[in-house]
Amino acid sequence: MIPGPDELARIDKTHLWHPFTPMREWCADGHEPLILTEARGCVLRDQYGREYLDGNSSIWTNIHGHNHPEVNAALREQLGRVAHTSFLGFSNPPAIQLAKELVDLFPGRKLSRVFYSDDGSTAIEVAARMALQYWRQSGKPARDTIIAFDRAYHGDTLGAASLGGISIFRGSADACGYRVLRVPGLDALDFLTADDLARIAAVIIEPLIQGAAGMRLWPQGMLRVLEAWCRRTDTFLIFDEVMTGFGRTGKMFACEHEGVVPDFIALAKGLTGGYLPLAATLTTERVFDGFLGDGNTFYYGHSYCGSQLGCAAALASLRVFREDHVIEKLAPKITRLAGLLAEIGKLPHVIETRQCGLIAAIDIDDATGLKTGARICLAARMHGLLTRPILNTLVLMPPLCVTTDELAAMTTALRKAITEVCG
Ligand SMILES: *Cc1c(COP(=O)(O)O)cnc(C)c1O
Repeated sequence: MIPGPDELARIDKTHLWHPFTPMREWCADGHEPLILTEARGCVLRDQYGREYLDGNSSIWTNIHGHNHPEVNAALREQLGRVAHTSFLGFSNPPAIQLAKELVDLFPGRKLSRVFYSDDGSTAIEVAARMALQYWRQSGKPARDTIIAFDRAYHGDTLGAASLGGISIFRGSADACGYRVLRVPGLDALDFLTADDLARIAAVIIEPLIQGAAGMRLWPQGMLRVLEAWCRRTDTFLIFDEVMTGFGRTGKMFACEHEGVVPDFIALAKGLTGGYLPLAATLTTERVFDGFLGDGNTFYYGHSYCGSQLGCAAALASLRVFREDHVIEKLAPKITRLAGLLAEIGKLPHVIETRQCGLIAAIDIDDATGLKTGARICLAARMHGLLTRPILNTLVLMPPLCVTTDELAAMTTALRKAITEVCG
């Protein structure tokens, strides 16, 4: 039997250690941990039966809503056959079918090879290691450095963190990890010398918008310029679409906004519709061919690579995209969100609002004291909205199935919370 809510909270505070969470505050007597027990669509329910709108898609993962009948049915069907089998030396039908469907999502099927892993960080490790190993075994071992951007975020494993440009997330990765040349923006690339260029293996970027940096938008047209630079210098272009993938920006992938196809793309968070940890790194036949020589095996993999259940969920999610015309239905929601954000932008203490598709950010003036963003999100919780700030940037990133009424309810909760905390 599941223990009652108070007992669950006690056990949590006694034995758990939560990610990105100051645990002294979490375990303090006054703090009531929110324990989520059920959900449907955009609505989450806690241990006491209180309901909340899922304002950040359960940390940027959920796509079609929770408890989706089609995804559920696909998982049940897959469970009736098998949950997981090894992908090292074996294959399985959902992984095969998903690879085909993912390849078909990109123009000209240029990204023709799919490598599975578990999460965004591992999808990035795969791209980085493949790029570096490619040059090593193609007679250009000097190409050992990856260009990454200031304030980038590519995950928390050591290698992925070393690519990141936000120092608190980099932690111990500063001392080791990949060789990284960090640049503030595109202009810096023009200042690289021939000697610099001879060392560059790849450029990695979050296309259109840097997520963990506080939903920072890149200038329009930048991806095309970056692509041209990469072609000119024969440098691999890696797109981290872990956050932007699967409709968030208004198109299936952020790279579609500028018609750019990179050499590697990392997909994770929304891949399974937000159901299960599964990631995919897609790359080109050119990169794949570089691994066909003797002794050129890509020695990398995880226990749950190609998870049958995960792939079945991803296939179901892609089917929902097609059958429910999910992308086509986003436009009115994005327009409504823009209108609602403009209203919020008029509040005192709101410095700026930003939007990219169904991703919205609200910068709050921190004049009222410490941790204003966190206090506003706590207040929003009392008004039935769950989300998580990035310092003093409030993030709204609902599941794509959100209705315009739900969007209005979400921004109303935020508006009340901002007014309560900031006055
Ligand atoms: C979340 C995120 C990652 C890391 O993904 P995990 O699944 O948390 O490992 C990498 N890149 C971007 C852009 C992300 O938003």
